[in-house]
Amino acid sequence: MEYVEHVVDLVGNTPLVKLNSLTTGIKATVLAKVEYLNPGGSVKDRIALRMVEAAERSGELRPGGTIVEPTSGNTGVGLALVAQRKGYKCVFVCPDKVSEDKRNVLKAYGAEVVVCPTAVAPEHPDSYYNVSDRLVREIPGAWKPDQYSNPENPASHYHQTGPEIWRQTGGRITHFVAGVGTGGTISGTGRYLKEVSEGAVQVIGADPEGSVYSGGTGRPYLVEGVGEDFWPEAYDKTIADRIVEVSDADSFDITRRLAREEGLLVGGSCGMAAAAALRVAKDLPEDAVVVVILPDGGRGYLSKVFNDRWMASYGFLPPDSTGATVGDVL
Ligand code: PMP
Repeated sequence: MEYVEHVVDLVGNTPLVKLNSLTTGIKATVLAKVEYLNPGGSVKDRIALRMVEAAERSGELRPGGTIVEPTSGNTGVGLALVAQRKGYKCVFVCPDKVSEDKRNVLKAYGAEVVVCPTAVAPEHPDSYYNVSDRLVREIPGAWKPDQYSNPENPASHYHQTGPEIWRQTGGRITHFVAGVGTGGTISGTGRYLKEVSEGAVQVIGADPEGSVYSGGTGRPYLVEGVGEDFWPEAYDKTIADRIVEVSDADSFDITRRLAREEGLLVGGSCGMAAAAALRVAKDLPEDAVVVVILPDGGRGYLSKVFNDRWMASYGFLPPDSTGATVGDVL
C-alpha cells in the first residue's frame, strides 16, 4: 500500500513549473514554485509545522493547549491542520479585509475565527495584533506562534524551501523572487540560497505600492497577505538585493493571466510576485534561471480578483467590461 500517515506529512516538496505564455519575449527561464500544492493550500503549511514542533519542545505548547494567532487565513489553515493531528484547539484573529471565503475555510477545519477592523492602527486596542494578545492572556494554555517574530518561520524556509529550490534547479538558479509579508519566506529561503551559492543568487523582494518594504508608509492596498505597515522581526533586511514595487493593478492583471494563460489559479500576492519576477527577467540573458514563489491558490479570491465586477469597481477593468452578456441579471 502506498499512503502517508497523515495529510501533514505532505507539507513541502512542491514542484517548479515553467512559465511559458507570460514570458513571451523573455530569454531567461522563469520557474514558479507552486505552493498551493501543499495540503493546506499555501506556503504557510511549512512554517506552521515547524513553529508548533519547536513550541512543543520548548514547553510553550502543552497537551490540550490552544493556538491563538493573528492570520490572514493561510497560516491559520496550516496551524489548524497541525493542531488537528496533535490535538490542540485554534483561535484565529483576522482583519475584516480578508475574504469571507477564507474565514469559512478556517471554520471548516474546526477553528474559531475572530474578525477585527482593518482600518485601525496596529497600536489600536481593536487591531488584530492587540486582540490576539488579549486572547492569549485570557485563554488558559494559550500559545501564540507569532509568525511575525518567530525565528522558526524563516528557519522553516532556510531548512526546507531553500534546499528544495537548490536541488530542483540543480544549483542553476540565478535569481530568487518572493513577495514579502512577514518576511519569513524571503529571509529564510534567500539566506540559504545566498550561502549555498556563495552569494551568486540574487534575491528580489516584491512589495505592494504603499508598504514599508518599498519605502511606503503603510498606505492601504488590496493585495492580501503581503506588505506591512511595520517592520517584522522575521524579516532580515540584509538578504534582499532589491525590492520591486508592484501596483494592485499589475498584481491583479498578472494573477488573472496566470490562471488564463498558464493554468495556475493562484492568489493576488502570486500575481504580485510574478509581476516582479517578469520585470527582473526581462533584462536577463538566456542562461538565467529565475524562481518565483507563488504562495497560495486562487479559490479564496473568486469573489475579488477573479470577479469582473469587483475588478471594475476598483477601476482595474473598464466599467463596460464586466463580462456580462445579454440576459445576465446584473
Ligand atoms: N502571500 C500570501 C497570500 C500570504 O498569506 C503571505 C504570508 N503573509 C505571503 C504571501 C508572504 O509570505 P511571508 O510571510 O513569508 O513573507
